[in-house]
Amino acid sequence: MSDQYQVIVVGAGPAGYVAAIRCAQLGLKTVCIDAWTDAEGKSALGGTCLNVGCIPSKALLESSEQYEFAQGGLSAHGIGVTDVSLDLDVMMQRKQRIVRELTQGIAQLFKANGVTHVQGRAQLCADRRVVVSHENSTTTLQADQIILAPGSSPVQLPGVDMDNEYIVDSAGALSLAEVPSRLGIIGAGVIGLELGSVWRRLGTEQVVLLEAQENFLAVADEQVAKQALRSFTGQGLDIRLGSRVTSCEVSKRQVELRYQDDGGDHDIQFDRLIVAVGRCPATAGLAADEAGLLFDEWGFIHVDESCRTNLPGVWAIGDAVRGPMLAHKGSEEGMMVAERIAGQVAQLNYDTIPSVVYTHPEIAWVGQTEQALRAAGVAYRSGMFPFSASGRARAMGDTEGFIKVLSDEKTDRILGVHIIGPQSSELIAEAVIAMQLGGSVEDIALTTFAHPALSEAFHEAALAAHGRAIHVAPARTRKSGKKPA
Ligand code: FAD
Ligand code: NAD
Repeated sequence: MSDQYQVIVVGAGPAGYVAAIRCAQLGLKTVCIDAWTDAEGKSALGGTCLNVGCIPSKALLESSEQYEFAQGGLSAHGIGVTDVSLDLDVMMQRKQRIVRELTQGIAQLFKANGVTHVQGRAQLCADRRVVVSHENSTTTLQADQIILAPGSSPVQLPGVDMDNEYIVDSAGALSLAEVPSRLGIIGAGVIGLELGSVWRRLGTEQVVLLEAQENFLAVADEQVAKQALRSFTGQGLDIRLGSRVTSCEVSKRQVELRYQDDGGDHDIQFDRLIVAVGRCPATAGLAADEAGLLFDEWGFIHVDESCRTNLPGVWAIGDAVRGPMLAHKGSEEGMMVAERIAGQVAQLNYDTIPSVVYTHPEIAWVGQTEQALRAAGVAYRSGMFPFSASGRARAMGDTEGFIKVLSDEKTDRILGVHIIGPQSSELIAEAVIAMQLGGSVEDIALTTFAHPALSEAFHEAALAAHGRAIHVAPARTRKSGKKPA
């Protein structure tokens, strides 16, 4: 047995590294074990998020948006550009540089806070012992408190064999060496839409998304999903709902895929295929049987609302436990658990975790959807404001979409806010804060917003919920949900 630590954190993704830093800030001797290595075999902290998730995807979304805007968007401003060209290598190098700088930043934060980093694969054994394997050697660590944050990995589709050349997962889709002419994507969820947008903007002529469900973006508010489907289809994403892949193989340097929908069987060929049908907890081998750690039937670590597992002193956070698979959800769980270990009172409000899809227009929401309120028989008000009526959105030339505010008809408390439109990822924070503070629509209506700003649309949507929007006809914007029978 080697060093004694007060806390062992397994995994240095946004859940684990935040937990480790917070533990160290609170004076706990903390070690964080992580297995991730980059293409050169060097350790790279930050997990999926920094290495092959949030950050590289947003870097490419930004680059590809700039490229498309330079090609077609500038002329409306009276700015002429000729010879806009794409250097994919430079774009990819930029993305990798951002990833490297951020992953190295985590290593510096560990040093600055006194967190010990151990490279290797960890396994939880009995009596809160953790065995770390790295390059043919093993070390055993033990601590009173253990935080498991192993994250998630892409779901594999039976019959669709990933070869990392023609058929890739989301990590491969972030590093294609050239722009494919015909791109297939299985799954029109968040990853499919974001990465499909990237490659369409970079010049892919045909982007086909094969989605098993009949409903598009079922997690979002129906009205938002409807508008999004219209927008993305208009941009050229070919979204085929109710499609079930029945066979898939690589032949003659192309992917031959067969799928079924209500119209029958279809054959289609692609140059590259991305599989993006969800993620599953990366918990295989995480705990030896002797540890007695409880998992659910899908491999998620079983936890209570405070992220305690069934074992005393063992906690679990992030993608490997229930709840949305989002970096900020994992980070907040990490802080909550660290503070609980240090004896503080800490909790996380799962009702106010925002979701964002970084397409154009961006989609963002917090709280309940209108269809969920209807199904639950909640009496609610709805106020909506279109960006086409926003002076700032007009000045920006980015008027697609709307903000919708849903509130309790009796108490006026905000129950959900749904945005599709420019900078939704930033605007949603205002709604999150309002909901976190238990705010009402009246609170927003009484707040002064700067003019001209996109956030005025939030103000107007709140006014609309009370039938008093200034810049749009009230009949178009206010609706009351049905009272329960
Ligand atoms: P991870 O980030 O997966 O980190 C887990 C770490 O634990 C990894 O480093 C892994 O190597 C290590 N590990 C696992 N098992 C062991 C073990 N036994 N021993 C040692 N180390 C181990 N979320 C957002 O909120 N916003 C976004 O914009 C966003 N974009 C995304 C884009 C893509 C393409 C993808 C794939 C995901 C995206 N996500 C986004 C989701 C986000 O990446 C995850 O929710 C987040 O990374 C989960 O954090 P985590 O710490 O739980 O796990
Ligand atoms: P997802 O759940 O968003 O979408 C997967 C889609 O694939 C769903 O629409 C599902 O119906 C469909 N699907 C499942 N099986 C299928 C099949 N056999 N054939 C056709 N379609 C099928 O999952 P994802 O896009 O893979 O993303 C994984 C996770 O990563 C998500 O939970 C998401 O929260 C997270 N993520 C977040 C962001 C963000 O916050 N902006 C970005 C990317 C990923």
